[in-house]
This record gives sequence, structure tokens and C-alpha cells, in this order.
Amino acid sequence: MRIGIIGAGFTGLTSAWELLKCGHTVTIFEQHSIPGGLAMGFKEPSWQWSLEKHYHHIFSSDRDILTLADEIGHPFYYYRPNTSSFIAGESIQLDSPTKLLTFPQLSIAERLRMSAVLGYLKYVSRWQDLEAYTAHDWLIKRMGAHGYRLLWEPLLKSKFGSHFRDISLAWFWARIKARTARLGYPEGGFQSFAYRLAQAVEQKGATIVYDATVQKINQNGNGAFVVDRGDGTSAAKGATFDRMLITTPNSVIAHLVPALPQEYKKNLMSFEGIGAINMVLELSQSFLPNDVYWLNICDESYPFLALVEHTHFIDKKYYNHHHLLYIGNYLDRSHRYFSMSKQAILKEYHPYLAKINPHYASSIISSHIFKVPFAQPIVTTNYSQKVLPFKTPIKGLFISNMQQIYPWDRGTNYAVQWGRKLARACIKQ
Ligand SMILES: Cc1cc2nc3c(=O)[nH]c(=O)nc-3n(C[C@H](O)[C@H](O)[C@H](O)COP(=O)(O)OP(=O)(O)OC[C@H]3O[C@@H](n4cnc5c(N)ncnc54)[C@H](O)[C@@H]3O)c2cc1C
Repeated sequence: MRIGIIGAGFTGLTSAWELLKCGHTVTIFEQHSIPGGLAMGFKEPSWQWSLEKHYHHIFSSDRDILTLADEIGHPFYYYRPNTSSFIAGESIQLDSPTKLLTFPQLSIAERLRMSAVLGYLKYVSRWQDLEAYTAHDWLIKRMGAHGYRLLWEPLLKSKFGSHFRDISLAWFWARIKARTARLGYPEGGFQSFAYRLAQAVEQKGATIVYDATVQKINQNGNGAFVVDRGDGTSAAKGATFDRMLITTPNSVIAHLVPALPQEYKKNLMSFEGIGAINMVLELSQSFLPNDVYWLNICDESYPFLALVEHTHFIDKKYYNHHHLLYIGNYLDRSHRYFSMSKQAILKEYHPYLAKINPHYASSIISSHIFKVPFAQPIVTTNYSQKVLPFKTPIKGLFISNMQQIYPWDRGTNYAVQWGRKLARACIKQ
């Protein structure tokens, strides 16, 4: 079969890899000039490795992406970096059951209660029994309001903003169940891994058309799919496809395919999501003390949600011995930061950054800002009943994206897993 794929992120590239193994002819259309999608990186001339625009790591339990890495021969490295929480002006390491049991801000009874709740979630395997509850209500009831408000409400707020009360307990369960303190990172960064995968796919015979923003997908008189870049030319001249796979967010799909039924388009548009803004500071000095990699900011007065010192995870020798710090935020796409300049945002962040490290400003070598309007789906209760299947109402047209990943939290590992499932669904039809 001739198969067209929209998007050279990890879902699109993995689908292509699987389809090629079965002998199909694949063409991928990607709007950017490089592969990688949301895991895309950038590189200063003096760096050996690229850095993700938005912080990325995998967990050592992420089997799907690791299997793919083995297949294409790309190494991953593992570390156990320090994850801490910033509470009442103090950075407290909280990345193991022992650390939780000695956490001074909770009474002994509260620590034991919280440990029992987390232990229970780690133990149960049926998320279906949990998805009708919101994490907010269930956790307050089980672990008590004080512990929840101190540690877990900030996490939910940081990921979901004003939607934090609506998030399904199944999503929270998945984080506790599947995550490990040991983290993985691909050699050269995720960009390098994406290049390797794109190269492997091309070596197997696929065509990747970069700088190809697809505007419309139509069908000709024979039912074959035709890709239109909106400039009057077909992205791959004269090419038609027996199957079309789209890996963009749902709202983009609704606009790409005019022939989809109105009801289905309405459904696509009903999925909510939140955006992300990440600032990257390249520094001559380390920012966070005690080798902290990830610092959750559990203080609502701060204008950012996490500080992530990448070079406390990956050796700074790959970045010209400079220190790399992310200042992370998940925000509604209507937030004013989306229309503000990097300088204006840094000006707002500055007093808070200076509270944590008073001397950081004099060590800034460069700064970057990356904004993405859709970074995280809002996973509400009973989300399983909402998730759309790969098949669409149009025969031969399939979709896969972050909005289908459930109960697991979206991530490159699941993009790979869903990419494989998408390929199987497409062949089966
Ligand atoms: C802030 C942030 C932090 C994250 N942290 C992690 C992490 O630590 N670990 C982890 O594993 N994952 C993380 N993720 C998630 C991870 O990046 C995604 O789950 C994964 O990359 C999604 O891959 P995808 O292929 O499904 O989608 P995408 O990466 O979105 O790929 C879709 C592709 O389609 C292309 N496209 C869209 N519209 C068109 C069009 N009209 N024409 C042509 N091409 C088009 C896009 O350019 C893109 O390349 C993070 C994401 C964000 C935003």
C-alpha cells in the first residue's frame, strides 16, 4: 500500500518504521525542516549535543522507546538525578519512599498515611476502577488535605493550571505506577535520536518531505488521498495514497480534512489542552545547589512551576562546560506570557530566580524561549469513554496523537507505543 503520514514526530516516524517492515511505501510530510516534533532540540555552535526546547527524559520502565532504540542502534544512558521540591523557601529532596518518610513538613501520621496511599496506587493494577474519581477529591480524602495541598496539588496545578480539580485519578495512578527515579536520555539528545530514526526510516525506503505544511487532505474520484500544501501544489507531486495517517493534535485534524462529518469535527474540537513555555538559560555557573536536577516549585506566588538543571542530569562537557537551566511553565494558551518577549518574561521571573540563587544573573551566557500552544491534554474523569479510536469515519484515514494516550501520561515512550498500534490498525483495515 502507499501510505501518507502527516508529522515526523515520534508517532509518525515509528508508524513509518513499522509499516516499512511490512513492505509498504511510506511518505511523511513534516512542517518543520527537521524531525522530532515536541521533542525537537536546538544546538549552540559550541555544544556537542543538542538540547530539547522543552525538558525531556524517559523513565527506565519506558520499554517501547528502548526497544525501538535497540532496533535502530541508538544508545540511551541512565542516571538517578536528584528531584526536589521547593517548599516554604527550602529545597527538599523527595524522590524515594525513604525521603517521604523523613519529610519534616508532615507529621509522622501524615507521612505514614501518604506513604500508604502511594503504596496502594503502586500496587493496584486496575486503573478502570479509579478513573471515575478526580485525583483532587480522592487524594484529599485518602491522604488528608495538608499533605495533599503541600505536595500533590502543586503538581496538578503545575501541569493543568485552572483544570487541576478535574483531573482523573487514573492519570495520577499512572504516574505513580509507571515512573522510576532512574531516568534515561539518548546519546546526543532526543534530536539526535529523532535524526537516527528518520535516517533508519529513509534507509528502508521512505520519503520524508520537510518544510511541508499540509493544509488540506482530500480524496480523488478513486478514493485515494491527495495532500495539499495550500500553495496549489501537491506536497509530493502527483502522489496519491491508499491510507493516510495524521499525527497532529485533534484541532489540526478537524481543519485538515474538510470531508470529515461535522459531528466528528465537533468532537475533535472538544478536547482541551494546555500550552507550555520553557525558558532556557545557558550559564557559566551552576544554578541549583546540591546537584538538584528537578525542582518542583510548590509556592503559588512564583511565576514558574519548575526549575530543571539539565546539566545536573547530563554531563556539561557536551555543552561546552556551560550549565543549562530550564524555567518551566504549563499555561493556558490565552496566558499573557504567550504574547510577551523573552526579555519581558525574564524580567518577571528575575526576582524569584534571584531568591533561589542571588548571583545567577551575572552568569547568563545566553537565553532562549520556546512556546508551544498545545503541550498536555486535559485528562478528565472517565476519559476512556472520550478517547477517539485510530479509525476515523473516512475509510483509510487514521489518527493518532497525545489526546489518545491514556491512562499513561503522554511522552515519547507512548508516542512510540501508539505509533506501532497505529501502523497495525492501518494495515488491518
Ligand atoms: C513541555 C514538554 C515536556 C515534555 N517532557 C517530556 C519528557 O520529559 N519525556 C517524554 O518522553 N516526553 C515529554 N514530552 C512529550 C513528548 O514530547 C511528546 O509526547 C511526543 O513528542 C509526541 O510525539 P508525537 O509524534 O505524537 O507528536 P508531535 O511531536 O507533536 O508530532 C507531530 C508532528 O506533526 C507536525 N505537524 C503538525 N501539523 C502539521 C501540518 N499541518 N503539516 C505537516 N506537519 C505537521 C509537527 O511539526 C510535529 O513534528 C514533553 C512535551 C512537552 C511539550
